[in-house]
Formats: sequence, structure tokens, C-alpha cells
Amino acid sequence: MSQEPTFWSSVAEHWQITRTLRELQIHFYPDRCTGVWQCYEVCPIGCWTPDYKRRIVVFHNPELCIACGACVLQCPENAIELKTADKGRRTQPTARQRE
Ligand code: SF4
Ligand code: SF4
Repeated sequence: MSQEPTFWSSVAEHWQITRTLRELQIHFYPDRCTGVWQCYEVCPIGCWTPDYKRRIVVFHNPELCIACGACVLQCPENAIELKTADKGRRTQPTARQRE
């Protein structure tokens, strides 16, 4: 028999989810980016900026990212991933690092 959630069990679940989200980081693979700007269009925070000359995005505001995953879902080139810090060693430089 499953138990009904209580106020405190809901609070605990909320904090568990929050803790998990705070460990997630965006990992951007610029070599896969074809500059379609969908990440730029969906990001609710404005983390991405198009570089129209190079036809690539720049991950300008990583510190503001709330790990909502919208850009990951929208990118048709799998150029963006959300990973935890443990699993998520950057295998490719971010756009910011390349500048
Ligand atoms: S995960 Fe969400 S907040 Fe973070 S860069 Fe992508 S769309 Fe923006
Ligand atoms: S959605 Fe993907 S391919 Fe398009 S600009 Fe963003 S990172 Fe590049």
C-alpha cells in the first residue's frame, strides 16, 4: 500500500530534485553546432548568444543556467548535454573557452 505524500515528504522531494538540478551542468560541443539558434530561442534565461558571423552560438551566461534542459531538447545536432559534475568532464571546450 503506497502512502499519500505529506507536506514534509513533498518538501523533502522538492529539495532532492533541487539538489540534483544544482549538480547538473551544460556541456556544449561547438564542433557539432550548425547555428540554428533554437537553444537561443528557447532559453528562458538568455544564456546563449548567436555569433552570426561564425554561425555558432556562444554560451555566454553559464552561471545563470537553471538546468531546465530546454536547449538540450531543442538542439537538433546533440551539441548540448546536461550532465552531473561527476560524469560531466568536459571533453570539448565550451564556446567561451574557445574565445
Ligand atoms: S538548460 Fe535551460 S537555462 Fe540552461 S542554458 Fe539550457 S535552456 Fe538555458
Ligand atoms: S540549437 Fe544546437 S545547433 Fe542550433 S545553435 Fe544551439 S547548439 Fe547550435
